[in-house]
Amino acid sequence: MTEFGFIDEIKRLITPLPTNGYEGIGDDCAVMPIGDGEALLYTQDMLIERVHFLREATSPYDLGHKSLAVNLSDVAAMGARPTATLLSLSIPAELSGEWIEEFMRGYRDLSLLHGVALIGGDTTASLGDLAINVTAIGRAACDNIKRRSTALAGDIIATTGYLGGSGEGLADILRGEYNTPYATLHKRPMPRIDEGVWLGEKEAVHSMMDISDGVASDLRHILRASNVGAEVELSQIPTSVSVERALTAGEDYELLLTIATDEFDEIAAEYLTRFNAPLYPIGKVVAGENIVWLKDGAHTELQQSGFTHKF
Ligand code: ADP
Ligand code: MG
Repeated sequence: MTEFGFIDEIKRLITPLPTNGYEGIGDDCAVMPIGDGEALLYTQDMLIERVHFLREATSPYDLGHKSLAVNLSDVAAMGARPTATLLSLSIPAELSGEWIEEFMRGYRDLSLLHGVALIGGDTTASLGDLAINVTAIGRAACDNIKRRSTALAGDIIATTGYLGGSGEGLADILRGEYNTPYATLHKRPMPRIDEGVWLGEKEAVHSMMDISDGVASDLRHILRASNVGAEVELSQIPTSVSVERALTAGEDYELLLTIATDEFDEIAAEYLTRFNAPLYPIGKVVAGENIVWLKDGAHTELQQSGFTHKF
């Protein structure tokens, strides 16, 4: 079974349950309106030893950072400001107090950087691997929340940064090279928090998500949710590694968004001034349901798809 088949199955199974006015499964976060035109957003991501990281390849500080970063990224990906987290740890006996303190320093420093509170969690012993589970909570004006389901044919598809560096780093790590510049990108992703919140304020940004599994997989989530297709120009993918790696490796935690064409230039110019970094257009949303990959305008095929957990 694959992760996404399983999630579809869960959605089917829970149809008798009430929604209680909340938006649930299917986006980067669940949305709970709290009145006065505001909402709280909730997301949860686990990091499991040997599935998501090798303990010998990462410092506890970096792991603390990354456990939080991947969760904050999901909040910002919907245009919300992260405000609090809950942290649960399942700790193997051989882990030292020093190790855990360093983990917490990494977690704390990124929390501090973005003004995020740690408000609870759970701690247990583990008889096997280390497991880390984080819940992140954010807040946004309902009007600023960006969903996967609201892309429109004609939109320009853009990303906030270079892709594939994290995937290249993972390849380095799996070769035993733990400290290359790419490996550092993999172990210490910087989520686009201020960027996500800023983009949330722009009406012309129609849909947004973060890139955790690679554009080849993540863009499909937007297309499926919005009932549209896309054309992506491979020569426009911002990357310093192979285009295949850039599109399929994932864990870059850049934002993937679609913007009304006639407002793209203005938003990109403002974004450049504000963040000293460009928005990279990579293609456009079209009617249909598939991704057409183009290489210098000519139709081409991509050999792999993005990352999916299988079990
Ligand atoms: P992301 O990559 O943005 O973290 P995921 O691909 O992990 O999102 O999850 C997709 C959607 O499925 C999310 O809305 C998430 O909350 C939901 N989801 C994933 N696993 C489960 C589960 N076991 N039970 C309920 N919802 C789940
Ligand atoms: Mg996400």
